[in-house]
Amino acid sequence: MGVRRSQFLLLPASYVGNMSKQAYGQTLSSAQKKQTLNVDPGMLNRVRSISNRLIAQVGVFRTDAAQWQWEVNVEKNEQLNAYCMPGGKIMVYSGLIEKLNATDDELAAVIGHEIAHALREHGRERMSQAFVQQFGLQALAAVLTRGGSTVAGNASMQAASMGSQLFFALPNSREQERESDRIGLELAARAGFNPQAAITLWQKMEAQGGSKPPEFLSTHPANENRINELRQLVPIVQPLYETAKTKQ
Ligand SMILES: [Zn+2]
Repeated sequence: MGVRRSQFLLLPASYVGNMSKQAYGQTLSSAQKKQTLNVDPGMLNRVRSISNRLIAQVGVFRTDAAQWQWEVNVEKNEQLNAYCMPGGKIMVYSGLIEKLNATDDELAAVIGHEIAHALREHGRERMSQAFVQQFGLQALAAVLTRGGSTVAGNASMQAASMGSQLFFALPNSREQERESDRIGLELAARAGFNPQAAITLWQKMEAQGGSKPPEFLSTHPANENRINELRQLVPIVQPLYETAKTKQ
């Protein structure tokens, strides 16, 4: 289930990768200080083993992603949230698992969806847009002429805060969400997770009402459309799921 769309990817991949790495590292250390990082070993184990099965399939979509330095962590936080920063830096909030009472298949659906955002470089795309909005084209030109690897060394704190600022500044577009739904669904099926769970996941998400971060706002895209589209896609990936199941 390929997707085709021209993308606004002006910030160099290495620049974005660097900022994301710094921002993710800073998130981990601040969670560590608050004692909210990976506090439940059982939950962490579960999230990591599901994620690792999904990550084992990413090469189907882009070969370079198999070599990314993937990281998977769980933050104790009541919010319904999960994300994957550029380069494969995954964070799942405990609230998502607990409030949705998510099954393994449903967790695979949401993590697969987040991984798909990273595979399709939606973060880099949003960060490029946010960068131009916030700092203008001149600043962008400066980044481009200095090359991609300028965010490093003693500028790392700045890179970290700029990275999260840009990553979280804009919500994913409807088109980006649609792409991630398609790719995430196939990823989960190939990893042997029941694709049907994507439907129950979004139904549960919808039932949670309004207190969601931008990634999961029910209005973006309209959840009914999303669920209808997923219903049409499930039969397409079902054979991949069945094949994967026989190999387990
Ligand atoms: Zn999304």
